[in-house]
Order: sequence, then structure tokens, then C-alpha cells
Amino acid sequence: RAIVRELDEKDLHLTDTIPPQETDPTDFKSRFLKKIRKLGEGNFGMVELCLYDPKGDQTGELVAVKSLKTENESSNLRKEISTIRNLYHENIVKYKGICSDEGGANIKLVMEYLPAGSLKDYLPRNKSNIDQKRLLLYALQICQGMEYLGSQNYIHRDLAARNILVENESLVKIGDFGLTKSIKDDKDYYKVTEEQDSPVYWYAPECLINRKFYKASDVWSFGVTLYEIMSYCDRENSPPQVFLKSIGRSHGQMTMARLVDALEKGWRMPRPDTCPEMVYTQIRRCWSQAPENRVDFKSLIEEFEFFVN
Ligand code: ADP
Ligand code: MG
Repeated sequence: RAIVRELDEKDLHLTDTIPPQETDPTDFKSRFLKKIRKLGEGNFGMVELCLYDPKGDQTGELVAVKSLKTENESSNLRKEISTIRNLYHENIVKYKGICSDEGGANIKLVMEYLPAGSLKDYLPRNKSNIDQKRLLLYALQICQGMEYLGSQNYIHRDLAARNILVENESLVKIGDFGLTKSIKDDKDYYKVTEEQDSPVYWYAPECLINRKFYKASDVWSFGVTLYEIMSYCDRENSPPQVFLKSIGRSHGQMTMARLVDALEKGWRMPRPDTCPEMVYTQIRRCWSQAPENRVDFKSLIEEFEFFVN
């Protein structure tokens, strides 16, 4: 550091006609952002790996950049940005900044790049190197991120393996705050006003029936996510596959009605072969019909801390 300071001072003497640069580190200039490849896409967004290289000498940093597939959804991305930039936790993907074009009509979200992708891609590929204790460590980290999110009065609303990102074999982070809502001080739920492409197989009954989202609705989705994790995100046994195999394939709106009906009658996804009974017990505690009867993230953290130690 001392050396750097000395150099800076020398430079200043040589170049004191140039004013000191005041740059906002969260303002990414689109001309310096070079696309490397596509990382993934969901219903609304698209995420690309880019090199941000303002010096133009390939010494820049790798970042993940999210944009929207259709431009008219840009207010949704703005909401996502205003959520993620307030979140600071080890198990939540880090916000880095934004990149907007000249007119400011188009906006992109710049975040840290997690090289191993989502759990949905990572688990099937690395199955042979990941034991159950490791899976439970991921579960614990997700609960810790969710406990923090809840403490900030946010409801994620899209917790699923596809939205959990892998930093390395022993660290995962929650991503995709595209459906996240903050709950008002006088309420304990968020009421959906516009119909969207909801991840229905991850949703609790109260979300499907009354369109109400509580913190406990995220706990239900966590149960589905844990189900995915314990089955190593096996595509043959993904939640939509398991539901459709059990309640029967049907067309259009019928599926939703049958899903609600099955859940109300107490039907739940069965224990995956690779999931120990004691973990399935925790999954079932996430799937109590009434939100007030579900386990919360705090007690899940205690359970998983016990499992991984
Ligand atoms: P959408 O809102 O469209 O679902 P996501 O934010 O979930 O968008 O991103 C889509 C996919 O892109 C993810 O499932 C993941 O595979 C990949 N991805 C997203 N963010 C990152 C990141 N920071 N680093 C690496 N891959 C990412
Ligand atoms: Mg997603």
C-alpha cells in the first residue's frame, strides 16, 4: 500500500493538470462490458458472463450481468435491483452495480459471478463427489440466507434449486430476487395482484388458493428445494415430474386445480430414495397445510447445524 501511495503522489505531481477521478464503482459503462457467454435464463431474465475491462487490456473482472428478455419488463428488473442492493449476507449473491444505456431506458444488473452455476446444474454433474453431509451444509446455508432475508422483511417467492448459486463445493448463495416482495409493517403477508408465471410446484396452498405469501410460504418452498437437493436435482424426479406422475397429466388450468386439490387432501411428494428419514421429517415440517403450523428458518438452522456437525 505504501508503494502504491508513493506512486500515486509522484503521478499527481507529473499530471496535476488532470482532476482527480471521481468514479462511482457501481456504475458500469456498457462500452467496457464484453460478453463471454450465456450463463442461464429463467422466465423473465437472462444472465450472461461478461468481462468488465475498462483498461482494455484483459485485466478486468468477471461479472454476471442480468437483463430482461423483453424490454417492457424493465420495471421488474428495477425492483429486483432495489431489493438486491440492500442485502448483505454471506449466503446471498452480491450486488455489484448497474449498467444502463445512453438514454437510461435499458438497465442491467451487475452481480458477482459464481463460477459453478446453479445447484440444478451443479448437483447432477458432481453427484459422485458430494456426500449427504455436504447437501445438508447447503441446506443450512440456504436457511441462514433466508433467515436474514426474513429479518429484513422480504419474502423471496422463488426459492428453488435453479435459484441457488454455487460459489465452490462448500459455499452456496441465494440468487434471483425477481419475485421478491417486501412486506409492509402492518401486514405479515404479501398479496399478489397480477397473475404471473408462478412456480406453482414450489408454492404453498395459501399462495395457490388465496394468493397470499407469508414468510412461512418461503418455508414451504424451501421444503421443495430441499427435496430437490436430496435427490441431487435428478430431472426424472423434479417436483413438476413427481406431481404430474402422481396427479396425472391434464391440460391447462386443470393442472392447477388438481394440484390444489391433492395438497388439500394431504398428498405430499414422497421421500426420495437418496433422502434419509430424519431429513424427510424436516421436509414434512415445511409442508404443514397451515402456514402457522410450519417450522421456521430459525429452528431449521438448529436442526441442520446438528446434522452437519
Ligand atoms: P431468472 O429471473 O430469469 O430466473 P436468474 O437470476 O434465476 O434469472 O438467472 C438465471 C440462471 O442464470 C440461473 O439459474 C443460473 O444458472 C444463472 N446465473 C444467475 N446468476 C448467476 C451468477 N451470479 N453467477 C453464475 N450464474 C448465474
Ligand atoms: Mg431464476
